Amino acid sequence: MRQLLPLNYIHSTGVFKRASRKMNTNSSNMMALAPNTSKKRETVCIFGTGDFGRALGHKMIQCGYHVVYGSRSTQISNLVPKDAEVLSHAEAAQKAAIVIIAIQRQHYNFLTPLAEILRGKVVVDISNNLKLNQYPESNAEYLAQLLPGARVVKAFNTVSAWALQSGALDASRQVFVCGDDTEAKEMVMNIVRALGLTPLDQGSLLAAQEIENYPLQLFPMWKFPIFLSLGLTAFFFFYCLALDVIYTYIYEHNNFSFFIAMTIPNRICPVVALILLGLVYLPGVLAAIIQLYRGTKYRRFPDWLDKWMLCRKQLGLIALAFASLHAVFTLASPLRSFVKWRNAKPIISQALNNKTEPLDTTNAWLSDSYLALGIIGFFFFVLVGITSLPSVSNSVNWREFRFVQSKLGYLTLILCTAHTLVYGGKWFLSPTAYKWYLPNIYMLSLVVPCAVLVVKFVLIFPCVDKPLTQIRQGWERNPKSSEQSNYIINKSAV
Ligand code: NAP
Repeated sequence: MRQLLPLNYIHSTGVFKRASRKMNTNSSNMMALAPNTSKKRETVCIFGTGDFGRALGHKMIQCGYHVVYGSRSTQISNLVPKDAEVLSHAEAAQKAAIVIIAIQRQHYNFLTPLAEILRGKVVVDISNNLKLNQYPESNAEYLAQLLPGARVVKAFNTVSAWALQSGALDASRQVFVCGDDTEAKEMVMNIVRALGLTPLDQGSLLAAQEIENYPLQLFPMWKFPIFLSLGLTAFFFFYCLALDVIYTYIYEHNNFSFFIAMTIPNRICPVVALILLGLVYLPGVLAAIIQLYRGTKYRRFPDWLDKWMLCRKQLGLIALAFASLHAVFTLASPLRSFVKWRNAKPIISQALNNKTEPLDTTNAWLSDSYLALGIIGFFFFVLVGITSLPSVSNSVNWREFRFVQSKLGYLTLILCTAHTLVYGGKWFLSPTAYKWYLPNIYMLSLVVPCAVLVVKFVLIFPCVDKPLTQIRQGWERNPKSSEQSNYIINKSAV
């Protein structure tokens, strides 16, 4: 089977993977440079004795820096680190070559009269905003406009005061740094390293807006998968409620409302898991069809497809979470009083009638098969999920990563689809399964994965696979038209 991810996506992810691996190597190098208090370092000035100014100053003093605060009030409060000096802004700025502005952007006007004192100094902007793209220019660019002679560098805005103070920096060791002056940037990166953090050079000050937006982003890649899974869960909950509880109450006069606690969740979880798993592989298949249709890989995919492909890992992990819940619900199932009662019923009736039912080997085969397929499918699902974790994916090469994510991923999809088919297949032909003319929930769950597997099967035929491989290696059916479309894309970008 061939990997069906579009090459431009694979390349970009490959670059990302290499970059993150490089980052990790860097970080291990950086860790060797972590706090060394024995060495006395230079004086650093911090404007503002607020939460962040104090936390950063405290950490810097620990790491051997001499810290001098520039504040509106020179009275030393108990909260300011005891080895630090507190002076007026002008006096403090004169004592250091690096001035860190730990003050909100809306107060930056007070810096204008200090422009001459700050001329030639490295001025570090650490500020964040309350909203994405709140101002037309980034805070760092605004600071550079206010202080034309200063060498402005953006840094530290993704590190929280609490993390600095408590030392809980595991999740936020990376410090994004950008600025137009390379030497100034290097000086700030040296401080970052000395604090035991990892600087990541993001280029010129133009990158500041993006860096300022980072702390405001709330799981950007998770939004679509979370909303989708919540939507599917809600839909299937009401679907099951209607068919398993309301229908049986109206037509069979049975009160199965307790199904809401275990039975319905244990139906929803595998169904949502399987659909989401199918949706992980569907964009790859669609991308292949689009490339075959266009006869080139040099035209951009539609935006929705690009976005969909970027959140496949999140979709897969949520699917794994649903599958795990299904496994737990199933293991807990024999403890349920309803299940105990249902299992005891045929035994009691056999005892009362003094008759032993022979073993139905067809049923035994079916139940053993779907259980085995489910267990093996879940095993591979967990394996694929584990390899998507950065710590694991960084330790395998790109080919190994693709092998697990694509080959084992498809194997997981096949096993899980077969598990559902064997379990739910018996209802497909039974008229009683169509309550209110609606299909059983398991039938609905098979639509996406079966469609993906069928198209994937067609795509591996040599007559389809060969042109697709050629396209992905750069061959074009009609080179002129793609040149034209590239020209149009470039022109619109300009
Ligand atoms: P804060 O606790 O409110 O402190 C801000 C400080 O700015 C005040 O203590 C004050 O220091 C000074 N200040 C206030 N009004 C001023 C004015 N009109 N003129 C001059 N100085 C004034 O805020 P913070 O949490 O430390 O945040 C400071 C900056 O760091 C913000 O831009 C924020 O986005 C950024 N940041 C904060 C965190 C965090 O976790 N807190 C994380 C990353 C980035 P003096 O009384 O000494 O003059």
